[in-house]
Amino acid sequence: MARRRQIYEGKAKVLFEGPEPGTLVQYFKDDATAFNNQKRGTITGKGVLNNRISEYLMLRLGEIGVPTHFVRRLNMREQLVREVEIIPLEVVIRNVAAGSLATRFGLTEGTPLPRSIVEYYFKSDALGDPMVSEEHITAFGWANTQDLDEIMSLALRINDFLSGLLLGVGIRLVDFKIEFGRLYNGDDMQIVLADEISPDSCRLWDIHTGDKMDKDRFRRDLGGVEEAYQEVARRLGILPEGGPRDLKGPQTMQ
Ligand code: ADP
Ligand code: MG
Repeated sequence: MARRRQIYEGKAKVLFEGPEPGTLVQYFKDDATAFNNQKRGTITGKGVLNNRISEYLMLRLGEIGVPTHFVRRLNMREQLVREVEIIPLEVVIRNVAAGSLATRFGLTEGTPLPRSIVEYYFKSDALGDPMVSEEHITAFGWANTQDLDEIMSLALRINDFLSGLLLGVGIRLVDFKIEFGRLYNGDDMQIVLADEISPDSCRLWDIHTGDKMDKDRFRRDLGGVEEAYQEVARRLGILPEGGPRDLKGPQTMQ
């Protein structure tokens, strides 16, 4: 097979040129980073699990009419997606106080919020993803008011749907980060959900024990990181056939 052209290597994924114009291949790595790249490590099997988990959640969201970049999974670590023009924002939706929100407002982690809160951060590793307001976003031209209305409405629909889906398998969706992109079709532009939804980008707590089932186990050195990601996949009914032993997957696919 011809070697594909690598477009970008990020912290958790590699993007390759897709087989057809307007498509990309997302390759999910086991690399883990936290605190804006200051902490680095590997979580064995993470890429395989995140590929599956993101596929599953994007397919379910697609079924309720949320447009996504997902096309199909190609293999253990890769999925085909539509290439979009990424809107340079990390959109964070919070249901329960945790992480930076708990720190900033002096809230105890685990305090339910009066209502879901949507926050925007400017995607820039160099600047440490600073929080921004709609004013900054529209003034700097990252998105216009109409785009932001659409992003907010999609974010809240995604939150409602995923909260219910995860609650059904005993998981509380505390908060999560998503990215959106612009998909052009002639003169039409549609904003679609892009990137990934996985335990890397969500805070997921067991509904009964409160145990963390996400990247906070890595960030805070809690141990049991691999097991937590596996448990999320198991509850969603999507552990790869051979079980955890299968998780390393083929070593090289580029
Ligand atoms: P980063 O270190 O920048 O977070 P990742 O390792 O998460 O990078 O790799 C994914 C990168 O690809 C991100 O920068 C993300 O914005 C971008 N991306 C995700 N989905 C798409 C898509 N459909 N089209 C173009 N770029 C995308
Ligand atoms: Mg990323």
